[in-house]
Amino acid sequence: MEHETTEVAGWIMNAKKMVVFTGAGLSTESGIPDFRSPGGVWDRYDPEDFYFQRFISSEASRVKYWQMATEMYEPMKQAQPNLAHLAIAEMERLGKLDCVITQNIDGLHFKAGNSAEKVIELHGTAMHVSCMHCHKRYNRDAIQERIKEGVKAPTCDDCGGPLKPATISFGQAMPEKETQEAYHRSSRCDLFMVIGSSLVVHPAASMPLIAKQNGAKLVIINRDPTPCDDLADAVIHAQAGPTLDAILRRLKMGLGIGGRNGPG
Ligand SMILES: [Zn+2]
Repeated sequence: MEHETTEVAGWIMNAKKMVVFTGAGLSTESGIPDFRSPGGVWDRYDPEDFYFQRFISSEASRVKYWQMATEMYEPMKQAQPNLAHLAIAEMERLGKLDCVITQNIDGLHFKAGNSAEKVIELHGTAMHVSCMHCHKRYNRDAIQERIKEGVKAPTCDDCGGPLKPATISFGQAMPEKETQEAYHRSSRCDLFMVIGSSLVVHPAASMPLIAKQNGAKLVIINRDPTPCDDLADAVIHAQAGPTLDAILRRLKMGLGIGGRNGPG
């Protein structure tokens, strides 16, 4: 692996626009359970209840949705950024990051120190709640307080509309602005790094292809093989945290920051 990390660090050093694409692997390394895995939250609920149209049309579905969402939120709120999140935040500070496109809804890139304008949340965020009628946004914790007090399906203070975590549900359209921005950034970067995504969910899978078609180098760091591995200039099948940490150390050495015993 040492050869690959050194090579990738060299590419980052030379890149003018690096886009990082992150997925569920990063969240699980921070201890957030993968809700799709066996024994996950999904096993105890009927996925049909969580389609967007059901949520909009049925109070009973909204109650079930909030039960599940509350169960998923607690471990997310407790989770801390891991070495991969921290390395990506450090790359922003070093001026090496064009943006992070993430499939994750846990807000960990912000906790790690990335700034709002550098993070594109493709699937929305669990850290906010929005009104399905007037789009007013609320802090998630404030709404969870209402749930604790016994509210089963919270509604908007302004218009009475149903409130929903600001994540993208099954059957709900992808956020237009974020999706367009992600495609735009993917098409004009010169280095595209996939970290902890199996690249099976659309539109995730098409972004590395667009980057590659437009001449970018493609790096994939994921525990398991992905459908894009054959196209990549480098593939590292390993955990994201230790791998990114090793790359960051080599990058800093290359940039002449921090010696062997220096910080970070
Ligand atoms: Zn409202």
